[in-house]
Amino acid sequence: MLAVLEQDIKYLPGVGARKAELLQKELNIRTFGDLLYTFPFRYIDRTKFYTVKEVLGAQAELPYIQLRGKMVRFELLGKGRGKERYIAYFSDGTATIELVFFQGIKWQRDKLKLGQEYIVFGRSTEFKGKINMVHPEVDEPKDDKIGMQSAMQGVYSSTEVLRDNGLGQRSFMRLQAALAQALIGKIEETLPPHLVTEHRLMSLQDVLLNVHFPQSVALLDASRYRLKFEELFYIQLSLLKQRSVRLQASQGFVFSAVGEKFHQCYENLPFPLTNAQKRVIKEIRKDMGSGKQMNRLLQGDVGSGKTLVALLCALIANDNGYQAAIMAPTEILAQQHYSSIQQFLEGIGIQVGLLTGSTKKKDRKILAENLLNGSLHLLVGTHALIEDTVQFNKLGFVVIDEQHRFGVEQRARLWGKSAVPPHVLVMTATPIPRTLAMTLYGDLDVSVIDELPPGRQPVKTIHFNDSKRLRVFGFMKEQIKAGRQIYVVYPLIKESEKMDYKNLEDGYESVTRAFPPPEYVTTIVHGKMTAENKAIGMRQFVKGQAHIMVATSVIEVGVNIPNASVMVIESAERFGLSQLHQLRGRVGRGAEQSYCILMTDYKLSKEAKKRTELMCSTNNGFEIAEADLQLRGPGDMEGTQQSGMPINLRIADLARDGQMLEIARNKAFTVLEEDADLSSEKNALLCTQLKKLKASTADYSVIS
Ligand code: ADP
Ligand code: MG
Repeated sequence: MLAVLEQDIKYLPGVGARKAELLQKELNIRTFGDLLYTFPFRYIDRTKFYTVKEVLGAQAELPYIQLRGKMVRFELLGKGRGKERYIAYFSDGTATIELVFFQGIKWQRDKLKLGQEYIVFGRSTEFKGKINMVHPEVDEPKDDKIGMQSAMQGVYSSTEVLRDNGLGQRSFMRLQAALAQALIGKIEETLPPHLVTEHRLMSLQDVLLNVHFPQSVALLDASRYRLKFEELFYIQLSLLKQRSVRLQASQGFVFSAVGEKFHQCYENLPFPLTNAQKRVIKEIRKDMGSGKQMNRLLQGDVGSGKTLVALLCALIANDNGYQAAIMAPTEILAQQHYSSIQQFLEGIGIQVGLLTGSTKKKDRKILAENLLNGSLHLLVGTHALIEDTVQFNKLGFVVIDEQHRFGVEQRARLWGKSAVPPHVLVMTATPIPRTLAMTLYGDLDVSVIDELPPGRQPVKTIHFNDSKRLRVFGFMKEQIKAGRQIYVVYPLIKESEKMDYKNLEDGYESVTRAFPPPEYVTTIVHGKMTAENKAIGMRQFVKGQAHIMVATSVIEVGVNIPNASVMVIESAERFGLSQLHQLRGRVGRGAEQSYCILMTDYKLSKEAKKRTELMCSTNNGFEIAEADLQLRGPGDMEGTQQSGMPINLRIADLARDGQMLEIARNKAFTVLEEDADLSSEKNALLCTQLKKLKASTADYSVIS
């Protein structure tokens, strides 16, 4: 028998074929279950009554007010002149307000009765200095079909098509009421009793009634809690289960020794490792020696020294007879990794290769040979590294820098390069709030470098609006005189690419006007240039031959030029917080005091203002990421879209429900600890539900 929730929506009383089609097209509602799980996105408190006097005396228009009173007079205006309107004078004894109807006049005239008590609900509007209500809902107090007058009234998202076709808010509520009626006693639990009891959750039957028609705020809260908990719990259960399956099944290379190359490099370092770097290397070593494949995420703020950690771990692979690969998201970065790694490896006898899109065919061939015969120990590169033609002899360890620039698929291809999958270290400089990390990378192990190398002065961040440009130019001149170099960065956003390039070019012109050659050298680097020209521009700046580099956000990731101590960010209001933080991380890498200057328009939105203020007040990437999550929500944060993980949740909110997530994750953890494959009787329901959920979402367990 078809479960009741899977029934076609057209069989719900009041729906029918035509509306069913609309619901499916507009809101993707096909079944009873789909409708049931379409929750209000907000609620209007209908326990509160205003007095008419309050409404008329209010300074502004009021959204959603509720009045209780009587009709005292009716009037039909403009009859037969096209602009007919019907006015009902409504009074609660404190004052009288006009209810105005332009449509359905005949119906209103039949329905509304003089002297009868009504509850009126709607917005107050101002027209020619007078407060009235246009097309309010008017109900008789006793007119209580199921839930239609619940204490909190849900508001559902709708579309114009639905509204135009008789499926506005009120009709939608009526459908929900009919559904609730049809489902009484038929909702099956989706969480086992031991969980419901332990976490004092409301039964699903009650939850689903209350979430649509809450009788009080407390009941609404309790039902939302249950739904959120359940959503988060199952995601965590699924992730943690994937992790345990991976750990059980996947064999990994055993790197038992920390050998000669590692020690040589370690001893040659011009500086001691930070404690955080040491700790992380230990964590990675432990994984590499465990016999299981490592899947670890390394988070560390810009400049925290992740590259060196990656290199030292690559040497562990080399010491154990395996090759390693480090993959960077851009050509420039790959190049930079390559040259800094070569410096660290001087005299150690490790063969390093660089493979990018612009590697010459001839060199490619040599690289390929050496990779295959094993004489090349470490390959640094870009996407080019995962092309099918690239074959390793014994690939044992892969580092992916700035993970979020790689799609899940690209990562998968890399995995496929050897029969036993290599150990994988994913590095990101975009600090991810804990809650988000738990969901995005819930099945990965996470290491954090939470300490910067000593001796770094925090970057000073200052906000100017465009009218202060001359002052900023003056400051830049001082800095150049002191021997520093300067970045000037312009936003580049796909949707407005043309305009952005124009701004960039205009900006470059105005910079060269203010900083005329030959006294000053300004270079420009952007995505439309050929790789070769880009590299020339970059090199000029890296070598200190240019004072100023005008660029788009391509320089955002990883570039390391210690002498560049000023970062001017143009149209800073157009960047997200995390992106600004990334950009700022390009400076402050040398011994000098560094500055980040945020240039914005004079007029700023409230949110943009908050963002600039926050940037000026803290250098802590995690704090900024957390704020970014609060401001923008998980779906809009950098890098989350490509992750393939369900971060736009149905009801839970990663920005706000962090604590609940923690509880849900812990619970999932203990459940699996007791019963790893969920085979016990009491967990049978968990197993069924997981399977159902898996069927409805893509399975990424194989790749991350
Ligand atoms: P990120 O974590 O942003 O990738 P990098 O690996 O580029 O940071 O390191 C930034 C700079 O700090 C590099 O010049 C690197 O050589 C240097 N560095 C790394 N570790 C240390 C350390 N323990 N002490 C001093 N400098 C370090
Ligand atoms: Mg880096």
